Amino acid sequence: MKRDYYEVLGVSKNATKDEIKKAYRKLSKKYHPDLNKEPGADEKFKEISEAYEVLSDDQKRAQYDQFGHAGVNGQGGFGGGGFSDFGGFGGFEDIFDTFFGGSRRRRDPNAPRKGDDLQYRMNISFEDAVFGKQTEIEIPREEQCDTCNGSGAKPGTSPKTCDKCNGTGEMSQAIDTPLGRIVNRRTCSYCQGTGKIIVEKCSTCAGKGTVQRRKKIKITIPEGIDDGQQLRVSGQGEPGINGGPPGDLYIVFRVGKHPYFERDGDDIYYELKITFPQAALGDEIEVPTIHGKVKLKIPAGTQSGAQFRIKDKGVKNIHGYGRGHQYVNVKVVTPTKLTERQKQLLREFAEISGDIPEEQGSSLFDKLKKTFKGETK
Ligand SMILES: [Zn+2]
Ligand SMILES: [Zn+2]
Repeated sequence: MKRDYYEVLGVSKNATKDEIKKAYRKLSKKYHPDLNKEPGADEKFKEISEAYEVLSDDQKRAQYDQFGHAGVNGQGGFGGGGFSDFGGFGGFEDIFDTFFGGSRRRRDPNAPRKGDDLQYRMNISFEDAVFGKQTEIEIPREEQCDTCNGSGAKPGTSPKTCDKCNGTGEMSQAIDTPLGRIVNRRTCSYCQGTGKIIVEKCSTCAGKGTVQRRKKIKITIPEGIDDGQQLRVSGQGEPGINGGPPGDLYIVFRVGKHPYFERDGDDIYYELKITFPQAALGDEIEVPTIHGKVKLKIPAGTQSGAQFRIKDKGVKNIHGYGRGHQYVNVKVVTPTKLTERQKQLLREFAEISGDIPEEQGSSLFDKLKKTFKGETK
């Protein structure tokens, strides 16, 4: 499991950029592999650099805060729709170069590496998000080629060591400058950094060692999942390289809308339209909830805009903290089509009731007038 980046740098979640930079400089000096030969220092240094790369970049930091590690494992993973895959941290070496004058160590091209993580955006209905569901998804992903067992070489042949870089995957070039000799290292372009050249390519995968297949994966949509939340399916990402473990699959949920209910976290909001007589006299009304119908008592004298709570009729909390509530927002509907008799009754009603709200009465106009003239103080 990856550690929290804030924890890695030992700063708080709302640390300023300056605090993050200071923490990084301190820790990177302590664990820099050229200065610290203790076992594990190398790994620690990488972890620190990775955390810094994300937290020092406003955009990456925001993504990390929202989505965790999956949000920053690559570029644009959360942008377009559908399917995207993303590689590791390309920027790691860059930071290394910037701070330590290019004293970076070479990465062994034959070392086992974890496969890339995959991200899958899944559109689900309001109901499936609320109640959860067992389902199956089909994702396109790279899998090891069976013909060549991942080597990329035609069966019976094997890749040869790249003679341009002697199998290191990197080429160095020394340039003499007035400031001294600078050694430039870059990925070998003949073998693309793999250190190997495939002489006779496997015909199934064209030398890639992997083929794209559509793979069906059973997943459980967790009950109470909300829009934008994600599920990690361990080991279902791209295959590992040189015998490394496979990456993980991250499923990001996009939850659809409901025609009547609106969701905010674990709570559900519902607009209930009632008539003027129901509002004035009170009534008992059947209200739909996501868990079925519930009788709601509307007290006499209910105003438009009043809100009632139906306890525990919301969404089950995804972390197991009970259920949310349903809030009913009352809207009193004014009738638009009236019969002659209805009009007559309303006129009579108005005549005998006579209690016009104060804000509408003439006394208010008098008050306002006085205010404008500066008479009331
Ligand atoms: Zn193959
Ligand atoms: Zn090479």
